[in-house]
Amino acid sequence: MAKFRAIVIDKSDNGQSVRLDAFDDGALMDGDVTVKVTHSTVNYKDGLAVTGKAPVVRRFPMIPGIDFAGIVETSAHPGFEAGDLVVLNGWGTGETHLGAYAERARVKGDWLLKLPAGLTAAQAMSIGTAGYTAMLSVMALDAHGVRPGDGPVIVTGAAGGVGSVAIQLLARAGWHVIASTGRTSEADYLKALGAAEVIERSELEGKVRALGKERWVAGVDSVGSTTLANVLSMTKYRGAIASCGLAGGMDLPTSVAPFILRGVALLGIDSVMAPMNLRTIAWTRLASEIDHDKLRLMTRTVSLDQAIDACRDIMDGKIRGRVVIEI
Ligand code: NDP
Repeated sequence: MAKFRAIVIDKSDNGQSVRLDAFDDGALMDGDVTVKVTHSTVNYKDGLAVTGKAPVVRRFPMIPGIDFAGIVETSAHPGFEAGDLVVLNGWGTGETHLGAYAERARVKGDWLLKLPAGLTAAQAMSIGTAGYTAMLSVMALDAHGVRPGDGPVIVTGAAGGVGSVAIQLLARAGWHVIASTGRTSEADYLKALGAAEVIERSELEGKVRALGKERWVAGVDSVGSTTLANVLSMTKYRGAIASCGLAGGMDLPTSVAPFILRGVALLGIDSVMAPMNLRTIAWTRLASEIDHDKLRLMTRTVSLDQAIDACRDIMDGKIRGRVVIEI
């Protein structure tokens, strides 16, 4: 296959453009493993890249797509051989390295994981980077030592990808999950995933007090900004909040009060450069802990031709759960 189909982002004096095009195999970047990509997904960062709303793309032309599952075509890496099923999250794909929205990808073998037993490529991408980040957040809360018996957990951006997976993982672990959403019309969906309570996003958008009424002992926040500041101010003594997203903004208008007066911990979550041992644990846990009925409930599948529109939709807050791109 000298040429293959790919979504290509380009930049000219007129600004950024994006199209589905034929891409030349010779223009792929260096890597010791070539993968036939079978599935990718629409993550928030892909939306930022495709719409150009934030400077996510660092070289042009760029093939967006920060994660994929696929089949190894050729490998010069000792860990992989032709026919292996693999999954990739982050490492700069879709940002600095040509990414996943294509029939073919060439990457470093050191970035790849074998698809965990118990998951198909489609299921792995239904989980995607959003779900893997939700699991990293759950692992960080576990490692900090907060437990379901200590009080409720709050999940913000609940109807989004990270939120939807976080709810089901936390509910399965026995947590009383409070889901915060701007789409209360999705309350039944959130309860089907495992939320015990659904609250209006606006409850966390008001003026931030140094300390508020203690409402939860843990949290997974994909929103940032005033929402995270309010979440922190309402966290119980010695609680912990995993901060993984910025859907509401990158700022954090908080004070030190929750940290020094209540011993609250803010746990930073990065999925892009996370070390392999954490990724292996996260994906192994996802393979055994994810509920496939709930995964189906939160997933829509589109083709490569529909991926650009789906990336625009995620920026407009129109996506519920996860979108898989079948390539
Ligand atoms: P989604 O768009 O699927 O979900 C984000 C959700 O946040 C929306 O569904 C919406 O939930 C809520 N939201 C959107 N806009 C606003 C707003 N202006 N104010 C308050 N809430 C808002 O994205 P993902 O779940 O894929 O990603 C969520 C965040 O996590 C993103 O910022 C993304 O960049 C980040 N992320 C970080 C990673 C890391 O490595 N740290 C990895 C993956 C994602 P609702 O309608 O329920 O209110």
